[in-house]
Formats: sequence, structure tokens, C-alpha cells
Amino acid sequence: MGKQSFKHWIGALAAAMLLAGSAFAQQKPNVVILATGGTIAGAGADVANSATYQSAKVPVDKLIAGIPQLANVANVRGEQVFQLGSESIRNEDLLTLGKRVSALVKQNDVDGVVITHGTDTTEETAYFLNLVVKTEKPIVVVASMRPGTAMSADGMLNLYNAVSVAGSKDAHGKGTLVVMNDTIHSGRDVSKMINIRPEAFQSPWGPLGMIVEGKNYWFRKLDKRHTTNSEFDIDQIDALPLVEIAYAGGNVNDTAYRAFANAGAKAIIHAAPGNGSVAKTLVPVLQELRGKGLQIIRSTHVNAGGFVLRNAEQPDDKYDWIVAHDLNPQKARILASVALTKTNDSKELQRVFWEY
Ligand code: GLU
Repeated sequence: MGKQSFKHWIGALAAAMLLAGSAFAQQKPNVVILATGGTIAGAGADVANSATYQSAKVPVDKLIAGIPQLANVANVRGEQVFQLGSESIRNEDLLTLGKRVSALVKQNDVDGVVITHGTDTTEETAYFLNLVVKTEKPIVVVASMRPGTAMSADGMLNLYNAVSVAGSKDAHGKGTLVVMNDTIHSGRDVSKMINIRPEAFQSPWGPLGMIVEGKNYWFRKLDKRHTTNSEFDIDQIDALPLVEIAYAGGNVNDTAYRAFANAGAKAIIHAAPGNGSVAKTLVPVLQELRGKGLQIIRSTHVNAGGFVLRNAEQPDDKYDWIVAHDLNPQKARILASVALTKTNDSKELQRVFWEY
């Protein structure tokens, strides 16, 4: 090669590298938005209607079209999985959603998945996906407290943030996340603490991080087993057993417990005051139901997140009962349902409640 043509060749190579470099820099992550309904897809009659409106109205393509800036952070496409107020989501819907997420994260051309959801059961769906989807890729559940038609609507920024987190390399391996109000929560811990105000979602042990203008700031990791480290796999689950929650306050009686047992429940979450306390009139009833094969799981409805201890309020070893520890009743229902697909052994179930 002559000096001149070598120079020419080097010049062409440098130009090609620059071009490839800039194309690489422009390469955005591919994020799929699975829409399920909720207030984030809600619409009210007037901009002053921040709390009275209809949820699950706006289709996913319209949600995406309403935020052109999404294209700056990811290549986004949407799928309408269902269109529901999340209080109406049933176990079958969880399975449909979980299987769709699982299929998507196996695709090479999908870098992350966002699920738009109603706030009422966001904490349940996020925990379910955290337990059963085998992936390191980010799965982000997002919701809003105000419909898009309201003043100071929170859905646009929440969705923009969720897509940004779902497309982030540094969000890998953290389990299912819930992004609300600039905050990144673990789907395992997060809970809806108040039914109004954009800061409704809190994690009793603290959030994992924050997202501000497209940058993630991480503070902690979830120590509990999840996703790739979980023994549960959505691809192996085709039905969830019936687990019911019985709410116990003062003057509690046995009607609901017996009705749930008669309806074929495999476990009852005893949503109790305090340390999963059991009224003295209820102790023999729960013993009797355990004797018939039902699993009795003591949880608590204290507001700030519970801490039910084994053999503290009740002799769980003697009665062969289970404690939900820090899981609130609705999260305990999810974990029990998933765990019962694998085992009905109370010691194994208790192990699962400590580990997840
Ligand atoms: N109840 C409805 C739901 O959970 C609306 C509440 C909301 O999304 O904030 O879907």
C-alpha cells in the first residue's frame, strides 16, 4: 500500500469509527409498556377533579402519544393487556400478566418492561412479579394518584421516570421495582399508605433509590430472594390456589374464617391487630381449621408495616401456624398463593416467609 492510499485508508477508518460511535451513542434501550388500567389511564370531567374520575379509560397508545419525550429515553411500544381498576384484578389476570412479562424479557430486542397499573393493588402485582419472573432485566410497575385530566397530574412524570428506569443498565438485578413520585421502591416492600396524595407509596424499610431527570440514585439493595434467585417460576405456574384474608378487629367472630374454609381456601391470612394477635374465642377455631388441613398465617394490619414474631403472641410451634413476619396481609396472600403451588408443608411455607 502506498503512503497516500494508507493515509486515505486510515482517514476512512477513523470516519467509520466516528459514525459507528455516534450510532452507538444514539442506540436507545427497547422498553415495552404493558398497560393494565388504573388512574394512570383515568379521566375526569374537569381539571379540578383530582379524586373523582373514572379509572382505566385511556388506551396505552394514547398514553404513550401524550409523552413525546419518552422517545428521548427509549424506543417504546405499548400493549394493552387489560383495562381494569386494579381492585378487580384476579389471580388469572396476574398469571396472564406474569407470563407476558416473562415472554418479553426472554426476547433479545426487549431491554426492560413497564407495567402501568391501578394504585390499589400495585403492591400485590409488583410483589407477585418479583417472586415469579426469572430475569435480571428491569421490570417496573408504575401508577398515578391523579388522572391525566387533573391539575398537577402525576402520571406523566411517573411514566417517563418508569420508562427511564426500565431502560437503565444500573437497574438490572434489583427485582421488580415500583416508580412513583420520583422514588424507586422495591416491589417487595412498597405499599399504598394513603388513598390520596402523590406520595401515597412508601416502603417500611425505605425505598431503593430516587430518579431525577433521567438519572437513578441508588441507596440500598433488597436482601430478600427475588426473580433469578427465586425458586418460583411463572412458566411453571398455571393456577394459584385460593388464599383468603380474614380481617380481625375487636369483637371478631368465626363467620368469615369458616366461610373461607367451606369455600375451599387452602390458607387463611389472619389480618390481625398488633403482633398478629388472635382473640381467645378464635384460637380453638383456627386450631380446628388447621386440623382440617388449612394453613393459618398470622399477619397484622398495623399501619406502618408489621413485624409479627413466631411464638410471641401465640405458640405457633404448638399449633403449627405460620407467621407472615413483616408482610402485610395482601402481600402475605400473594406469597402464600405462590408458595402453595410448590408445597403444603407448614415448615417449608414458614421458610419461604422468612426468605422472600
Ligand atoms: N381503584 C383504581 C385502581 O386501583 C383507581 C385507583 C388508582 O389507580 O389510583 O385501579
